[in-house]
Amino acid sequence: MNELTLDPDDWSELTTLGHRMLDDSLQQLATVRERPLWQPMPPDVRAYFAPGAPPREGRPLDEVYADFQRFVQPYVLGNVHPRFWGWVIGASSPAGVLAELLAAGLNVNVFGANESGAALEAQVISWLTNAFGLPAEATGLFVSSGSMANVVALTVARDARAGFDVVEEGLAGQTPLVVYCSRETHNSVDKAAGMLGIGRKQLRKIPTDAEYRIDLEALRRAIAEDRAAGRKPFCVVANCGTVNTGAIDDLGAIRGIADEEKLWMHVDGAIGAVLRLSPRLAPLTAGLESADSIAFDLHKWMNMPYDVAGVVVRSRETQSRSFSPAASYLTTFEDGIAAGRHIPSRLGPDLSRGFRALKVWMTIQTYGLDRFAAIIEKNMEQARYAGEIIEREPKLELLAPAPTNVICFRYRRDGLGDEQLDALNHRVLIEVQKAGIAAPSSTVLQGRYALRIAIVNQRTLREDVELALSEIVRIGDGL
Ligand SMILES: *Cc1c(COP(=O)(O)O)cnc(C)c1O
Repeated sequence: MNELTLDPDDWSELTTLGHRMLDDSLQQLATVRERPLWQPMPPDVRAYFAPGAPPREGRPLDEVYADFQRFVQPYVLGNVHPRFWGWVIGASSPAGVLAELLAAGLNVNVFGANESGAALEAQVISWLTNAFGLPAEATGLFVSSGSMANVVALTVARDARAGFDVVEEGLAGQTPLVVYCSRETHNSVDKAAGMLGIGRKQLRKIPTDAEYRIDLEALRRAIAEDRAAGRKPFCVVANCGTVNTGAIDDLGAIRGIADEEKLWMHVDGAIGAVLRLSPRLAPLTAGLESADSIAFDLHKWMNMPYDVAGVVVRSRETQSRSFSPAASYLTTFEDGIAAGRHIPSRLGPDLSRGFRALKVWMTIQTYGLDRFAAIIEKNMEQARYAGEIIEREPKLELLAPAPTNVICFRYRRDGLGDEQLDALNHRVLIEVQKAGIAAPSSTVLQGRYALRIAIVNQRTLREDVELALSEIVRIGDGL
């Protein structure tokens, strides 16, 4: 019988290499400003990643690490850079990097045993339900993404409010269930409607007002029409920070409608739920505390390392009903390793789960929620400042109101029509990205192409905003 393991004969050699990796990794962060934000993969790098047969034999880790340094590290997305503002992507933090390292060393499966990882996750979830203003009996868990958080929350909503036993009976032959949200809602909600058997046709996309918030009268009308047609409205998804423009729906008013209509109110707070952490900004999220469930992302505005998001639900009973089928091999006991109290695997779809909670716990302990709140306030100020520069600069123009941290704008030139400006701005976007200077992304608002920056980056300074906007003007002038 062979006695192979994956451990080295010589731990000291591995330890030396490990130290070098850690030093290099932190050094990359320390010097991030000195490198271009992004660069495309040259042909030899693309060729290196060609699909093919897997290696049957191993080779020394230091060689593999050299390949990592040559082919992987220089060509990643670039979101640790201070001028990365595309989509909604966080930059992470040094304490977060170290927490990931420690979590990897422990390699604990946080499915919910009698162990410190699950206890820690329960504690951190309680910090967050507390910060969001939910009652003490609220519960939740960490998941991979805001998208998964929406899936988990909509599963619970469906099972709690369908009016029949979806978990046991399924949806076949039942009255169609309808969920409401604004047209600005993130497409992870469309995905969830499909995955959960609700059907995208039963996802009502309600028009928005001039501020891109859900039109409440249109919402009421849509609910009435569905009832009249014999369908079953069960849930409304409210936005706390839309991806296009950062708009926040009137959460208090939506709560009122949900109560009248006996609907579940879910808040997609992937971007904006954490505004609640700042006493100054918390009023923007008024009504968040009345949600039945909240999805929030920690790898975005909380700058925690990918990936970590969370979902919290007002009532533990409702959440566990969707995710706790009996299984003899998962029985909990009064003592021993299986005597878990907080059991995340009964609150969501994953059984085996990593220790995402450690980086949440460690970064919140290290920086304190006040520091996170100050970063969020800083980014809000930077977005406002970007808006001011754009309004002052005749060659730039805002394309939407910017109530939070998302700015949509375009480069303009007299004599060009909308369609020509759309094409020109697309070229501006590509050139700015290829220059490695800054990373805006794009969207389309009322048919018009917009450059879009969403500042959730803890590393961003005021001068980064100034530089990026002046470079956009310079690049636009050159096209
Ligand atoms: C990013 C985002 C999501 C999805 O979150 P992921 O973590 O990227 O899966 C959902 N809703 C909104 C409003 C978002 O901005």
